[in-house]
Amino acid sequence: MIIKTQLSEKEMPEKFYNISADLPEPLPPVLHPGRKDPVGPDDLSPLFPMELIGQEVSQDRYIDIPEEVQDIYKLYRPSPLYRARNLEKVLDTPAKIFYKYEGVSPTGSHKPNTAIPQAYYNKQEGVEKLTTETGAGQWGSSLAFACSKFGIDLDVYMVKVSYNQKPYRRALMETFGARCIASPSIETEIGQKILAENPESTGSLGIAISEAVEQCVKSDSTKYALGSVLNHVLTHQTIIGQEAMSQLEKQDEYPDIIVGCTGGGSNFAGIALPFLGKSFRDNSSIELKAIEPSACPSLTKGKYAYDFGDTGKMTPLTKMHTLGSEFVPSGFHAGGLRYHGMAPIISHLTNLGYIAPEAYTQLDTFQAGVTFAKAEGIVPAPEANHAVKGAIEAALKCKESGETKTILFNLCGHGHFDMQAYIDYFDGKLFDNKYSESEIAMALSGLPSVG
Ligand SMILES: *Cc1c(COP(=O)(O)O)cnc(C)c1O
Repeated sequence: MIIKTQLSEKEMPEKFYNISADLPEPLPPVLHPGRKDPVGPDDLSPLFPMELIGQEVSQDRYIDIPEEVQDIYKLYRPSPLYRARNLEKVLDTPAKIFYKYEGVSPTGSHKPNTAIPQAYYNKQEGVEKLTTETGAGQWGSSLAFACSKFGIDLDVYMVKVSYNQKPYRRALMETFGARCIASPSIETEIGQKILAENPESTGSLGIAISEAVEQCVKSDSTKYALGSVLNHVLTHQTIIGQEAMSQLEKQDEYPDIIVGCTGGGSNFAGIALPFLGKSFRDNSSIELKAIEPSACPSLTKGKYAYDFGDTGKMTPLTKMHTLGSEFVPSGFHAGGLRYHGMAPIISHLTNLGYIAPEAYTQLDTFQAGVTFAKAEGIVPAPEANHAVKGAIEAALKCKESGETKTILFNLCGHGHFDMQAYIDYFDGKLFDNKYSESEIAMALSGLPSVG
């Protein structure tokens, strides 16, 4: 009975897969926030190194993974693929359930897959310091690890409420040598302005982005890094799906359904896009399910429109499924899924009908996560519980119809830093905070007009 399929280091993919080469229709252009015309490399060069700007618009199907990046990947890659035999038994489903486990990375999630190449390309271009923002700390700790590998300084603006409530990830960032600053801070003009208006501000992701960007543009040797949403981030994550394809091949399997959770869309893209690209080239079909929280339902309830990436309205405009850049989701524990927008590539593919989004409530996803933990022995991150819930629903549908489909999902991270969320769940302190229709309507009414 095969439970775990591991690739050798030699079998690790040596290229990233870029879906732009295979899209049936090209992506809508990214627009300048002031001029409202398509952005060029010069608009982005204060923020990102040229190699990443190039990858952002590349039409090449494959992008070589630099050897130095591959060497660091090998600390935790290839990651294992498991057959969830025990979960199949618990569900009494005829479906086969496989999951790719990204919790084996240095920070316990998929995020180092893009942090490492981003740090590498910055180093190649002489960048001495990076700035970034982080919510719960998953991205900040991943970039801190990557920067430590390449000798780059890192300042992380961490949303103040998380800075105070989640000291463990802050400690992880500091272990890897990063400086972690509670946002809003007095270190930036925007931070000072917000603190002058409201000294008690507990911050938001949008404010933290604005602070990180402001600090970056003030210094020539400093650039900025983003952990999701952008095309190059999704491209880096495709190492997940490429590995999964080889691992399934070893077992003569191919997925009918692929499931992932979507915050900004990168881990879902990572597992799904290599398979979707293949289906475009082969003219075959594959079912893709993007699972999001009911409390922040950008794909299922948002509008497909041009919007800003941040609350401060400093970023370029991208066409995406959005709840409005002013939308602040209610407090729920899947911190990584609290973004108002969605990756342009995932939005485009959803709009074209290749991705089916589903939304589930917090309590339903925790229940699924606990069922999974008991069966398989891994405690998923609250974000990953959404993927687990989506996979369980798909497997139960197979039970109803008697179909023996093969389901693949991405277990994008473990929950070892999130046990307070499980404590709250067991204590009955977690609630289903539904999104507020009127708040979304209000945030959407503020969408920029692009003519
Ligand atoms: C950040 C994070 C997410 C959400 O980001 P995506 O870009 O949608 O992948 C999901 N799961 C975990 C474990 C995360 O750390």
